[in-house]
Amino acid sequence: MNKHWQKKSQEEIKSIVFNALQNNVNYDEENILGIPASYLDDKVFNQDATFVKDAPFISSLIQNPNHIGCHTLGKSESFFQGTQDLEKELIEICAVDILQGETGAQDGYVASGGTEANIQAIWIYRNSFVNHHAAKREEICIICSEDSHYSMDKASNLLSIDIFKTAVDQDTRNISESAVKATIQQAKSKGKKYFIVICNMMTTMFGSVDNIEAYTNPLTEFACEFKLHIDGAYGGFYYPFTDAESRLTFKNKNISSFTLDAHKMAQAPYGTGIFLIRKGLIQNVNTQEASYVEGEDFTLIGSRSGANAIAVWMILVKNGPFGWQEKIFILQKRTEWMCKQLAALNIEFYRHDMSNIITIRSQFVQPAIASKFGLVPDNHAAPKWFKIVIMEHVTIEKLMLLIDDLK
Ligand SMILES: *Cc1c(COP(=O)(O)O)cnc(C)c1O
Repeated sequence: MNKHWQKKSQEEIKSIVFNALQNNVNYDEENILGIPASYLDDKVFNQDATFVKDAPFISSLIQNPNHIGCHTLGKSESFFQGTQDLEKELIEICAVDILQGETGAQDGYVASGGTEANIQAIWIYRNSFVNHHAAKREEICIICSEDSHYSMDKASNLLSIDIFKTAVDQDTRNISESAVKATIQQAKSKGKKYFIVICNMMTTMFGSVDNIEAYTNPLTEFACEFKLHIDGAYGGFYYPFTDAESRLTFKNKNISSFTLDAHKMAQAPYGTGIFLIRKGLIQNVNTQEASYVEGEDFTLIGSRSGANAIAVWMILVKNGPFGWQEKIFILQKRTEWMCKQLAALNIEFYRHDMSNIITIRSQFVQPAIASKFGLVPDNHAAPKWFKIVIMEHVTIEKLMLLIDDLK
């Protein structure tokens, strides 16, 4: 079933990464005089060949390839083509094998994080409405839920478009069609005609997953012009593996793009927010003025580290698709164990069945316990909830200590 994602041995990974680095420019062996780039400062970073010869990621950091621009379309900086090809493969793994797109049907890149990837999506859709519908900026808005990440507010502010938030049910964290209808009507009454809709694939605080039809049914019924982005910054490497019937995939024609952060559930270095979008849309943010960059620039960020893309590629192929499924399975089992313990103590909490976040009502958690176990509140000033996130290091042994204290 997996077209691009195959488990590889450490030896294979090493040979592929070193080969990719070979296909980049080599500042030592070639005369490269015209780019403001070099390897990392060798007075500080040990470049001794024997030290790094078994370390493909460290070697990538040291050689410091720049992945500026987007490599899934047109031309890119030829200096770093070797490692850019690995990034292209990573984009295919995510878009095709994780999110069920067709091979070659999506563009994408490794952004600085979920914040950038979300802003990139909203930027593209804002420009697309302007470019193709002669929309005025005041007629365009963002629609998301009150549990959406604050990067939507940043996007609204930066791109100068209004934002409208749909209320969620305070117990189930679900959005309903009627709540979405109310939001659309409110936006329409303020003159909005073009809708950039953000649907959550696991929210930051609750791990909740929005019912996509609660958005698309009213939008279709009201014949709204809309573009839909899925924010899977947290859930992108989790939810597709817990919900075999997930409707949040490229198979859904209403969905145009996704954010998935590898630096959250995939344990990659920071700077690995993955942005994926159906072909034909990213051109709306082509900065033609980026004339010194070969192939111009379709991204928000500019220069970015190629080592980040390599790190995510290495993580995915080292685990392989079945290894990943098992990793998530274990986290699900631990989460279920913890939910049982909490229920036995009559502690009130929220958990989405397909998620590894448990959010406990604050009256059940004394502040001293929250701080001892590093539980994160929804609001530092006036907490209503504290969350537990069952990551790789959050073992049952550690959870037991929390249960003991809660007793
Ligand atoms: C963390 C998160 C973001 C922002 O991601 P950064 O990588 O911190 O910029 C956006 N959306 C959701 C749902 C998140 O959990």
